[in-house]
Amino acid sequence: MNNHESNIEEENKILHIGFDDTDSTNGRCTTHLAYLLTNTLVKKFKVNFIDFPLLIRLNPNIPLKTRGNGAVCLRIKGKRYDEIKEEAKYFIENYSDIGNGANPGLAFYEENSIANDIISLSNNAMDTVLSKQLAEKTAKKNSIQYHLFGKGHGLVGALAAIGCCLDVDHTYETIAYRKKENIGAIRKIDKSKVKKISDESFPNTFNNFDYRKKRVLIAPHGPDPVFCGIRGEDPLITTKFMENLQIDEDLDGYMAFRSNQGTNLHLTKERRLSRILPFTSGHINCQLITKPNVINGGHVIFYVKDNFNDILPVAVYEPTRLTKIAASLEIDDKIEIGYGAHIKSNKRTLNLEYLIIKELKEITYFKNPICEKCNKNMKSEGRNKGFQCPICKTKKNNEPKTVIKKDRGLICGGLYIPDPIAHRHLTKPYFRYNKEKKYDRKQILYLLNNTQWTSKK
Ligand code: ATP
Repeated sequence: MNNHESNIEEENKILHIGFDDTDSTNGRCTTHLAYLLTNTLVKKFKVNFIDFPLLIRLNPNIPLKTRGNGAVCLRIKGKRYDEIKEEAKYFIENYSDIGNGANPGLAFYEENSIANDIISLSNNAMDTVLSKQLAEKTAKKNSIQYHLFGKGHGLVGALAAIGCCLDVDHTYETIAYRKKENIGAIRKIDKSKVKKISDESFPNTFNNFDYRKKRVLIAPHGPDPVFCGIRGEDPLITTKFMENLQIDEDLDGYMAFRSNQGTNLHLTKERRLSRILPFTSGHINCQLITKPNVINGGHVIFYVKDNFNDILPVAVYEPTRLTKIAASLEIDDKIEIGYGAHIKSNKRTLNLEYLIIKELKEITYFKNPICEKCNKNMKSEGRNKGFQCPICKTKKNNEPKTVIKKDRGLICGGLYIPDPIAHRHLTKPYFRYNKEKKYDRKQILYLLNNTQWTSKK
């Protein structure tokens, strides 16, 4: 192949850049690194992005994550790929918290379509725990160039982000970033503006304001470079929301990501109870076999069985605000739950992430007859001795008790999800159900080419 031919080939192939595990609990942020790198790729290398930068949230129930288990993929087309790879490596080396808990992985995949085993790795990273070895094996098999820093755990996320085509339901988040000198300072955000713009942009934005607790949900609290993030259905709307906030602080810039946030992508698979491993996520259809037990802290525990008669405990934590609903379940009720599997006292436990009532057991109780004169419940005179009205003393000897169906206070078919404050990044908000977006490549390209999806001073 001569130079000319190799250039044509380079131009025609898509370069997928995946990276993860660049931050630690002390600071930094993988999306911020993506924002810095993206702006350099656009300005210095004039690359074309063939998709929005992807912010892919992976299995939220793995022990390894620092916070939201987010990984990033940039899909670009252009020239000078060797220089671009060097630049990306430089960014990871210089803007990660290596040595402080970050263990980055960086991967480059040059292909126009994504191989099935990378897609499948990504799929499994959504709800199970994968090994670095599997990631390395998959990378080698597919001629993916990769770099490991620290312990290199980030390779799993880097490949999972590349393999996530997001050709299903998806959302957007516009994230605003702070200037270096402001990181750590208190974020000043006008609560009433957040509420007003949330109201106005509903249902096109979500989880920006907690209406019950009247709390702003758009800003993190830690010393990371994110000022705030606005989630929603359309990058034009999320970016406009951010602009309308008229933030006082002189920000560094912003970037809109396409994401699987708010889609429940980690809960799509159903496994039988006996096959649910710790730290995995999914959903199951099951039946209560014990009455819910309210324990210390107001949390609720009950046991369920599946169609194979396997049994596991389910925990509903107080902050989800689903404990009252959970406590009113009864033995034999049929339910579907979204779960994250954890280990408690050496036992697998399913932490509830959503609840759908499939079938409610009919509960009945007996009531004494009513006095026709006084309209009051009569009192029993003892076994087989009839009833007497406590007011007018009228007696009824042969009157049977009435059978009353208990009002369960639950809706059959009802969906119950945690309060926004207890949502994970992947939790699908209530009003997104049945409004999931269909993948429309043309529309995504239109948005990409007609919005200023990133801006950096
Ligand atoms: P962020 O703060 O960006 O939202 P995070 O800080 O919570 O994410 P990371 O610091 O990226 O999480 O750490 C998560 C680590 O777990 C990464 O090394 C990633 O490669 C790895 N990882 C992600 N998903 C899986 C999985 N399903 N199985 C095994 N390892 C995973």
